[in-house]
Amino acid sequence: MEIFPLQTGSVKVKKAQKSREKGGMLRVLTSEKWTDWLPIYAWLIKHPEGTFVVDTGETSLTSRSGYFPKWHPYYRYAVKMDVSRDDEIDRQLARYNVDSKDVDKVILTHFHTDHAGGLYHFSNSDILVPKSEYQNAKGTIGKLRGYLPQHWKDWFKPDEIEFKKQNYGPFAESYPVTKDGSIMAVPTPGHTPGHLSVVADTGDKKVFLAGDTSYTEQLLINLQPDGVTPDTKQSLDTQMKILKLAEQGPVIYLPSHDPEASRRLSTNKTLAV
Ligand SMILES: [Zn+2]
Repeated sequence: MEIFPLQTGSVKVKKAQKSREKGGMLRVLTSEKWTDWLPIYAWLIKHPEGTFVVDTGETSLTSRSGYFPKWHPYYRYAVKMDVSRDDEIDRQLARYNVDSKDVDKVILTHFHTDHAGGLYHFSNSDILVPKSEYQNAKGTIGKLRGYLPQHWKDWFKPDEIEFKKQNYGPFAESYPVTKDGSIMAVPTPGHTPGHLSVVADTGDKKVFLAGDTSYTEQLLINLQPDGVTPDTKQSLDTQMKILKLAEQGPVIYLPSHDPEASRRLSTNKTLAV
């Protein structure tokens, strides 16, 4: 099995989102301190059972007026995107000689725009999403929460992952993505209540495709929740489980917006706990 980074452009958020400050979400909206440009990673896994993609990154359509709802305070005050057409996931996959139409399965960590924005490239693929996250992202309530279901295509009918009561290290539930069990999904709620992560076991290590369980590896080690999580206790519980998994064996921890993630993957730098 081989794993490759797909950088689908960059995003800027508030520092108070990257690392939670007093006031939580309100602080995210009102603060004027921005992060540097952060990468938006998705991941390609070439596996004997097929070609897998974890998250779909962001779309260049975000630069069009009206793509983001102007009435929504988060889009109005708290996020900036830099995504060109060449940054989109189909072009990033082409760099590894993969046509997006040949991807067998796409697994979404969660439905935030910078993870789900490239979904429309995968009309041919099975799309696996966490069941509760999908339910939360749908419809008017989903829009109020900041999801963008209005951009889903008519053909979008994902397979909803229901976790099985089968423990995987410190995680009490899991879901096998491949028949051989070398790619697993585990529930990692916190950043969103339905968030999942994907673990690819290469034999000598586990590559933890973390989504937004933290914005950097250091913030995980510091057990630092982000500023948008609705449940900091849940977020900390998830972070502690990831650290516990890394105590049980070598783990390369790859959050979606960590500028060091791609380098850690290429140099096999494991999480030191
Ligand atoms: Zn997110």
